[in-house]
Amino acid sequence: MVTIPKEQRRYCPNCDAHTDQSVKEVTNRSTSPMSKKFRKRQRKIDNGYGSFPYENPANRARGGSNPTSSKKDLQFTCTECGKSWKPRNTLRAAKFEIER
Ligand SMILES: [Zn+2]
Repeated sequence: MVTIPKEQRRYCPNCDAHTDQSVKEVTNRSTSPMSKKFRKRQRKIDNGYGSFPYENPANRARGGSNPTSSKKDLQFTCTECGKSWKPRNTLRAAKFEIER
């Protein structure tokens, strides 16, 4: 279980300084069926291209192990400038919680 504090003092790319920031997890964001990324993936699945992309990523072919952890979609919001940003290297964890 990975628990991170809700309020953190981190570097803000906009202010170019360390400020107090709040973190939230971006969830329930479905992929748009009209996006280029989605259409490209669907075209590959429909045409029967090799083994990738997998129709369901949980069912990987040829003995590939299924990932038990996932990358978390975190968003930091600066309390001084009000702008939000996303870290380049995201956290990977199976169980994740933001401390209140
Ligand atoms: Zn800022």
